Amino acid sequence: MKQVLPGGINRSDLKLCDGRTISYYDSKEVDRSATDKRKDEAQPGIGELRLDPLVNEWVSVASHRQHRVFLPPKDLCPLCASTADKLTEIPDKDYEVVVFTNRSPALTTPSNNWSLPQITGIDTPNADAAGACEVVCYTSDHGASFAKLSEKQIRTVLEAWKDRDNALSKLPFIKHIFPFENRGEEVGVTLSHPHGQIYAYSFLPPRIEKMLEAAKAHLVKTGRVLLDDVIAREIKDQKRIISQNAEWIAYVPFAARYPFEIHLAPKRGVASMGELDELQSAAFPAIAKEILSRLDGVFGIEMAYIASWYQAPVNVGRDCLRLHWQIVSVRRQPGKLKYLSGSESAMGAFIMDLEPEQSAQQLKDVKL
Ligand SMILES: [Zn+2]
Repeated sequence: MKQVLPGGINRSDLKLCDGRTISYYDSKEVDRSATDKRKDEAQPGIGELRLDPLVNEWVSVASHRQHRVFLPPKDLCPLCASTADKLTEIPDKDYEVVVFTNRSPALTTPSNNWSLPQITGIDTPNADAAGACEVVCYTSDHGASFAKLSEKQIRTVLEAWKDRDNALSKLPFIKHIFPFENRGEEVGVTLSHPHGQIYAYSFLPPRIEKMLEAAKAHLVKTGRVLLDDVIAREIKDQKRIISQNAEWIAYVPFAARYPFEIHLAPKRGVASMGELDELQSAAFPAIAKEILSRLDGVFGIEMAYIASWYQAPVNVGRDCLRLHWQIVSVRRQPGKLKYLSGSESAMGAFIMDLEPEQSAQQLKDVKL
């Protein structure tokens, strides 16, 4: 199946040997027909959602994930394109951007009549771990990184994110969609090939519940959208702004939690990724590349980071929660990491040893 997306991006869908779909996203017309020559392997079963009654939060238990590949050498990388003597997750011999379902997903398609159990304390029943976990390969170049992609390539990644956001939000069991990237072994990356993931949850994750509460309260009290007011304060204060263009603004937030934390938001707010229009999409690649290059430039080393897209859930909060990208780095100095210690891990109370204004200055001072 072929489809042309905004920005002139072509999508071609094919099947992998075990029935998973692989979508190729190309900035030009390419014939994608390579078949997966690997032996058909059964897909793992579905995990379960258990309620932690102490906080009323769902925990996804997926024991089949213990056997996944851990940091394989480059010649065994499953995210590189296939060659004559090495068959990978990507059957074609080259690609721009591909998306496919994770081979050992923590969340997966449930049976037809699935529904999330009502929370009734300690007796809350378990449920199948419904949702979706997808892999987004940013490039076929094993040694690249998001910051090193061309602007054209970043646009292709953005269109893939938007396309998957649109598709996943149509599935009846999906409540929230979370595209993200972990980079660096320091943040638990098991494959060094440049890639991100999309988790689509069948429940609202705790942090989204909290954000929703704050955004709702602000809307009721002021009639305004919270992120709009947050951005207005950044513009008024000026000193934490790292970069901006006509459509996007990047800043270190007023109460940053990590030594290096950058938020990037569209100036004209949208509820979710799929709503970004042509002007916003066209203006994204340059500033995305710039801020990630600044992050790498601070210490002149590739920074480990977690880049997370926050957006409104599929069915609620679309009037008050707004799309933005939060990039946090756990590195304080070369050779020094910020570990989440007792206060952060157990209490969720963050302690920052660097003033956000100071880290904003360091990011601005990077010569690109
Ligand atoms: Zn690779």
